[in-house]
Amino acid sequence: MGLPGHHPQDDLLFGYAGGGLREARSLLVATHLAYCPSCRERVAAFEAQCGAWFDETPSVSADGHLDAILERLHGRLGAEPRASVPPPRPRPATAEAVPEPLRSWLDGPVRDRVWTAMVPGVWVSSWSRGTGGSLARLLRMAPGVTVPAHRHEAAEMLLVLEGAFRDEYGRFRLGDLIQYEPGSDHHATGDEAGECICLLLVEGEVVFLDEPGPTA
Ligand SMILES: [Zn+2]
Repeated sequence: MGLPGHHPQDDLLFGYAGGGLREARSLLVATHLAYCPSCRERVAAFEAQCGAWFDETPSVSADGHLDAILERLHGRLGAEPRASVPPPRPRPATAEAVPEPLRSWLDGPVRDRVWTAMVPGVWVSSWSRGTGGSLARLLRMAPGVTVPAHRHEAAEMLLVLEGAFRDEYGRFRLGDLIQYEPGSDHHATGDEAGECICLLLVEGEVVFLDEPGPTA
């Protein structure tokens, strides 16, 4: 995996196309697709590719390569249950509203949540969707406030729903999806112009890097 970009990487789009992503991951990808025509095209291409593979199966089987194909599919799609997230729809006309399918899942305005302060000026919603160790939540940053440098044991993703933020890798705006590699360190600072609200995927423990050690 390379540096974080503004779009989901191909393995994530491929997993989405095959219906093999966990629920929370699928929700982030589906929401990004509502904002991003180019990723919608890539998903459509992957779906066509998956269909072509299945069409080829009889002849492949005759050649004795079916197991290899299934192994490849299994490896790429993972063994996780199929997600129940509905497909994306075009983003709404009003800038304040979030696109489907997220809008239905939130069942109310984005800010209408119970928020828990992570650090001063940064809040995480009690609202969450997902299962087990893979949860989507909302992250809210006050203007100009920084989420201190931290490390995730597993994957982290952010999808910008309002405002913008910047980190070591760039500046991210409405609809951008950022994937952080497991074990990587990063911070995030909201734009001065206004609050930044993101859909956040967390799949492991978060370790803040400047936490003081235990006192004697
Ligand atoms: Zn995209």
